[in-house]
Amino acid sequence: MNIEYKTKNAWLLLDRSEVMNFSEQYKQFITACKTEREVVETVKENAIKRGYVDLFSSEYNSNNFLAINNKKNIFIFKKGKAPLEKGINFIVAHIDSPRVDIKQNPLYEGFDVAMFKTHYYGGIKKYQWVTLPLALHGVIMLKDGKELSVSIGESNEDPVFVISDLLPHLARKQMEKPVKEAIVGESLDPIVGSIPIEDEKEKNRFKKYILNLLHKEYGIVEEDFISSELTLVPAGPARDVGFDRSVLTGYGHDDKVCAYTAYQALFNANDLEKSAMILLMDKEEIGSDGITGSQSDFLEYAIEKYIKLKGIKELSAREVLHNSSCLSADVNAALDPLYRDVFEEQNSAIFGHGIVITKFTGSGGKYSSSDASAELVYKVRSLLNENNVPWQVGELGKVDIGGGGTIAKFMAKRGIETIDAGPALLSMHAPFELASKADIYSSYLAYKSFIEKFE
Ligand code: MN
Ligand code: MN
Repeated sequence: MNIEYKTKNAWLLLDRSEVMNFSEQYKQFITACKTEREVVETVKENAIKRGYVDLFSSEYNSNNFLAINNKKNIFIFKKGKAPLEKGINFIVAHIDSPRVDIKQNPLYEGFDVAMFKTHYYGGIKKYQWVTLPLALHGVIMLKDGKELSVSIGESNEDPVFVISDLLPHLARKQMEKPVKEAIVGESLDPIVGSIPIEDEKEKNRFKKYILNLLHKEYGIVEEDFISSELTLVPAGPARDVGFDRSVLTGYGHDDKVCAYTAYQALFNANDLEKSAMILLMDKEEIGSDGITGSQSDFLEYAIEKYIKLKGIKELSAREVLHNSSCLSADVNAALDPLYRDVFEEQNSAIFGHGIVITKFTGSGGKYSSSDASAELVYKVRSLLNENNVPWQVGELGKVDIGGGGTIAKFMAKRGIETIDAGPALLSMHAPFELASKADIYSSYLAYKSFIEKFE
């Protein structure tokens, strides 16, 4: 009997071709889906192909459903053998990622260069977002009420957008500043053009050139930007890393890696004991507020709707929730060998050692953490062991070094026993994050076991 706790590298436990094949599919998903709207569209298409029907459509007549909230959340529900009052096994992940948003009145010029004003979204290290190719994604509601969908910078023929940085020759003062002040929020503005209109008497000739061009190509007038949601994300595909191709770098692993593995697990799960439901949420990176954040009550609304349509008498959404369980599927930090001093090695996640179970998050004395119970940790630990899923525990860094939170507390607040579980990344929140393919596949296996067997 092994009485000492030790984790193993998941590459030694998993079938390598299964790991690699799964990652190829995921690679295509994060290459194509960079915003919450794009994720919702893709997951919706795939769910419809698999026979899921929209709970809010007039033709709804099914045991399973998909439900979409304001184009930025999608829920997928699969009925299990047990009655609904036994609760639901939830997996909740978020589909928003840190990025640079365009302001509502963005266009200006300076010294013959046209630029967009921006306001960054989520916790970014600003210096990482300059001098790299960025793509513009989002929607513009035009004056006539038409919705214009935007994606510029992803194909090789497309132009990209780039935020400039100071040359080292003139950066003596900048280089002496703390990193957090070296690049300020108001200077994260990308170049969008540099050709003037002909008329030399005109003012703002560079801005006007761009306005003319946008009007001719897309029918956009300047006021349309006010009713837009445009965002800059790193341009280009996710790529394999390393001679052995064991690592995947891409934009938005946090938290699309959990979104993808969770909904694939639900699609492929069979013989569910309890019903299961995947919630893909928005606004996690800025506090889970708003109509599409995890603090909104769309979840209660969807469950009430389902109870009503199925004619289940005397059952409330609240009762269902209080009998439910949840994996808060979000990423953790892998111990970075280059920055080991911020990690407490014995309780940090190791890259490639499988899905990470996190009992509590928070900061400064576990402040603002959901903190799962020992009983729940026991149940999850047993499930993963019984199903041979590579797993480990992980606390986010040394005590008092920093910290962070997840959606877990917003699920727990609803009476749902909840614990964090997801892969550990390197370079979390960077334009291109790093994930181990073995951890991605371990997460998929963990979510599938949870959906099929957790009681
Ligand atoms: Mn996250
Ligand atoms: Mn995050």
